[in-house]
Amino acid sequence: MTEQNNPPAPTKKRRPPPRPAVVEHIERATPGVVRVTFTGDDLASFGQTKPGGHMKLFFPPAGQPVDLAPDAPRPPSRTFTPRRYDVARARLEVEFALHGEGLASNWAVGARVGDSMLLSGPGGGYPVPEGVRHIVIVADDTAIPAAGMIIEALPRDCEATLLLEISDIGDEREISPLIANRPTWLHRAPVGARPGTLLEVAVGALPPQAADTAWWVACEAAAMRRIRDRLLKERGVAPARLHTRGYWKAGDQNYPDHDYGAD
Ligand SMILES: Cc1cc2nc3c(=O)[nH]c(=O)nc-3n(C[C@H](O)[C@H](O)[C@H](O)COP(=O)(O)OP(=O)(O)OC[C@H]3O[C@@H](n4cnc5c(N)ncnc54)[C@H](O)[C@@H]3O)c2cc1C
Repeated sequence: MTEQNNPPAPTKKRRPPPRPAVVEHIERATPGVVRVTFTGDDLASFGQTKPGGHMKLFFPPAGQPVDLAPDAPRPPSRTFTPRRYDVARARLEVEFALHGEGLASNWAVGARVGDSMLLSGPGGGYPVPEGVRHIVIVADDTAIPAAGMIIEALPRDCEATLLLEISDIGDEREISPLIANRPTWLHRAPVGARPGTLLEVAVGALPPQAADTAWWVACEAAAMRRIRDRLLKERGVAPARLHTRGYWKAGDQNYPDHDYGAD
């Protein structure tokens, strides 16, 4: 049989094994947000990500030892933001938005100091446009950690408008000490708004923005698409100035980490 009839089996892309870490500190930042600091020798080489970059957390079954063999089956994973990375102390901070039933959300509610975790990444992220003078950041609870990273990467003279949707007033918190303007907080609770709808309305109500304004939008996937559509069609935002991302999708478990809505 010729090589053409019998092509070589495709080689499977091998990713580096995830790094083991343990929970060092847990803080209930607000009723709806658990802030967890991970540590471990392997985090010393984790690396900085671009603002808004992501990583995978692999959730080992509770009470079982973590199997670190390269070919060991990996526990189920979810996508999160490495909010603060301290290379000198090999520490990594993650903020979990509690949303009810879900592997990660449940884990965060029950997390204890010393719990094991596996992490891979970091990757991706938002290349803050060079010389940007004004940015509009539109984010729900899951994307607030990424929004904080972006704010910290902006040029000093860049003006940021922040529309942030959260569950309830008690979930308002400091996003970054570098924020000059108060964010506009949108609370779903009083009206039981569907995720993303308040962001959509708030974007529609913004006054006209300068043509060179950058837009960063991250929230529930269907809401992100509606917002993206409005920005492109109603406001004539140039696609190059617009970065949109679906962080989760209503009804879907473990939503993929690469939904930019450009379909
Ligand atoms: C690049 C990127 C970075 C992210 N960073 C963060 C982060 O730093 N912090 C963070 O909290 N999340 C973050 N997310 C979102 C997170 O990955 C999802 O919310 C994930 O689904 C949570 O996993 P889970 O196991 O709790 O729920 P899953 O098992 O994935 O889902 C269970 C059910 O809950 C629903 N669900 C999932 N998330 C929410 C929500 N927020 N509100 C209401 N219902 C929900 C699902 O639609 C599904 O019906 C990020 C996502 C991406 C793509």
